[in-house]
Amino acid sequence: MSLKEILEVNEINRESPIGLWKSLIETPDLMREELSEGLRYISAQYPPDAAEIVMNAACQFDCHHCIYPKDYPKFNKNLELRVWKEIFKGLYERLGFRTFVFGGRGLNKDTLEAVEYLKGFDDTKVGFIADGPQMERFLSQILESPADWIDVSVDGMAEQHDTQRKSPGSFYRSVEVLEKLLGYGRTPMVAILSTITTINQESLLEMVEYLNKIGLSNFHITPVGILDNYRPSPNLRPSQDDFNNLIDEFKREYQNLRDSFIMFHIASGRYIRYLKDGKPEMYHTMKADGKQLLWSEELNNNEFHVSITPSSLTASREFIINSNGDVITAEVVGMGKIPDQYIFGDAHQMMATYKNRDRFFRHYVQLPVFDFYIGKLMQERGILRS
Ligand code: SF4
Repeated sequence: MSLKEILEVNEINRESPIGLWKSLIETPDLMREELSEGLRYISAQYPPDAAEIVMNAACQFDCHHCIYPKDYPKFNKNLELRVWKEIFKGLYERLGFRTFVFGGRGLNKDTLEAVEYLKGFDDTKVGFIADGPQMERFLSQILESPADWIDVSVDGMAEQHDTQRKSPGSFYRSVEVLEKLLGYGRTPMVAILSTITTINQESLLEMVEYLNKIGLSNFHITPVGILDNYRPSPNLRPSQDDFNNLIDEFKREYQNLRDSFIMFHIASGRYIRYLKDGKPEMYHTMKADGKQLLWSEELNNNEFHVSITPSSLTASREFIINSNGDVITAEVVGMGKIPDQYIFGDAHQMMATYKNRDRFFRHYVQLPVFDFYIGKLMQERGILRS
């Protein structure tokens, strides 16, 4: 089947973006040009809903699983809040963004003020990521924040969490913050984000059970991402067996939780391959669901999901803006100094040039920087077809 035929079938069947991605991965004989055209087509047809903002170059912590190098602030400056507000206004008015996510690096007053600013626009959904100790200083402001959701990082039970985050006492400090959030009866949803590593893989289920008992119900679990095999340490990566055993362990036990929602998120080709090879019955029964492949089950009012959101589709999920205002591709923060080939442009200037969402994204996918995602697609295809 040629790309032209794939797109014709898509027109007739109204395929989802992930359905098209699967066709690009699985159809033999597609040439690189066709794959490239196919991915550009997907990303222009289904542009990202969420703007992801890395608002702070610096972070006071030094977690083992962190993708950012320590000298990141040396190469990446912070914009003033005044400039961010201009960018946010452009993202909202010109590019049509309604969902904004603040990444979990160095939560500060500016981030919380930015959340408030964005909630001043109609129909926006705004969330931020932080860990407990980062939130302590701003707790009263956070309790009153209009954020729609707060993602709190917890990486295993006390020993494993504190080791992974190189922060003794941090687990119980996080629990205290979570109890205050729950006790305050905040309306925003509080979700727990956990990164699976070889440090914590054996304590994640226990952590979920513990936090569920104190009233938390929303858990998102992601295997550690490792940039080009050097940051963070590849030793943190779970093996295929350990990763799949962890899924099995959760699948066996989640029904005993209370009103929980658990999702494993898989993005990189390596972990997709883990699942495809180690749990083919799960991989081959995943359903196309918008921009993800999803395997789901529900028991005793608990939900368990395994989701694949391939890295090559990141451009159709997230519009990533770095602390210095550059629009960048996924994953490249791990490089510290980000090479020009991974920078789409200056967000402020882009906003001034484009006033229309569709036209902007038709142009965006044609920029040479977009080749980064073509490279990801080629990798995924190589991994999944071998
Ligand atoms: S993982 Fe998050 S909290 Fe930890 S050092 Fe990195 S940016 Fe900071």
